[in-house]
Amino acid sequence: MGFFSSLFGKREPKKVRIIDDLQIEIVHRSPFGNEINKFMELSTFSEAAKYFHHAKRVHFLGWEDPLEHPKFYEMFKTARINSSQLEITTIGTKLTPSNIKELTNISPDKITINFNYPTFTLNNFRENIMGLAKQRNSDTKIILDFVMTQDNISDLPTFVEEAGNLGIDEINASNINFIISPESNTKKAFEGIISDENRGDLIKQGKARGKEEYEALINQAKKIADRKSVYFSPKPLIGNEAITCDYNPLKNVFVAWDGRITPCPYLALKNARAFFNEIEFEQPSFIVGNINETNFLDLWNDKGYSDFRAVYDKRIKLFNTYMDETFDNEPNSQLIHNNYQKLDQQLAEEKVPEVCTRCYKVYGL
Ligand code: SF4
Repeated sequence: MGFFSSLFGKREPKKVRIIDDLQIEIVHRSPFGNEINKFMELSTFSEAAKYFHHAKRVHFLGWEDPLEHPKFYEMFKTARINSSQLEITTIGTKLTPSNIKELTNISPDKITINFNYPTFTLNNFRENIMGLAKQRNSDTKIILDFVMTQDNISDLPTFVEEAGNLGIDEINASNINFIISPESNTKKAFEGIISDENRGDLIKQGKARGKEEYEALINQAKKIADRKSVYFSPKPLIGNEAITCDYNPLKNVFVAWDGRITPCPYLALKNARAFFNEIEFEQPSFIVGNINETNFLDLWNDKGYSDFRAVYDKRIKLFNTYMDETFDNEPNSQLIHNNYQKLDQQLAEEKVPEVCTRCYKVYGL
């Protein structure tokens, strides 16, 4: 009996899926400094894999390309067998013809290619992306993720024009995810200051726009994507406080390369320094525990982790109650106003967890 088949011989009975995205980082390289790659042990992977059936999706991603792992295909195949949906986010440099063949044989539901543009451009991967689009199973979606910076945003329309010819399904225009260096802070395309008007009042916020020339480039890219019949999803250039973090920590969980469980990849980083509102600060980590020491479900139900999720749960419920009470019957302006005042007050009392307050993801960026 092989390693993985012996493992799954003992799998727990099928239960309700409690997690949307079980995100697994099988290769890690710290974004701080020049560390060498750290690889997830098979024993750690197998511990996490026992719980794949609790998730709607298993997603291979992290601070380094999952394709770098020497046992990547064993792990990916295991996930294919044991999860209902399977995704990978890769930076694209490893999409060689042989990797494309193996990947497409496993038939993941989604392949996202993250573009560190202009270090890598479409010219570096054009043939490979076309090969991937041609060989993939019709159920596999291919998404290109263009990370917008001040240096490259003027190339976004051209990128969409060219990518639209490659047979892909979607293009995301995203922001630099986590601002961890003065350099990335200077290069970000979005407005770094979250003003008071963009916190709290959900109705008033959302009117401000990003830099005019950047908004125009995004609009231009949108029109090109429509013409090419490619779904285009740009991130905003202005942060607005959201009901929940864009990352969905209520339903997503991140398994770091060494088995640590955290709500998201950012909170797994130790000694992280980040920027928010143009000021550098020490971002605290939030490690729930380690699956090599504690059962995954016990970690999921850990009091500190449950309390963390409960804040987001409460905020979502408050918003849903507001929507039901306001719009289920004939709404009038007085009712909308009164209920909104109530929601605004409730959200101010039910603030996002402290570790999230200086993360741009909670402002939708
Ligand atoms: S707000 Fe940021 S730190 Fe908090 S869960 Fe979301 S992504 Fe993680």
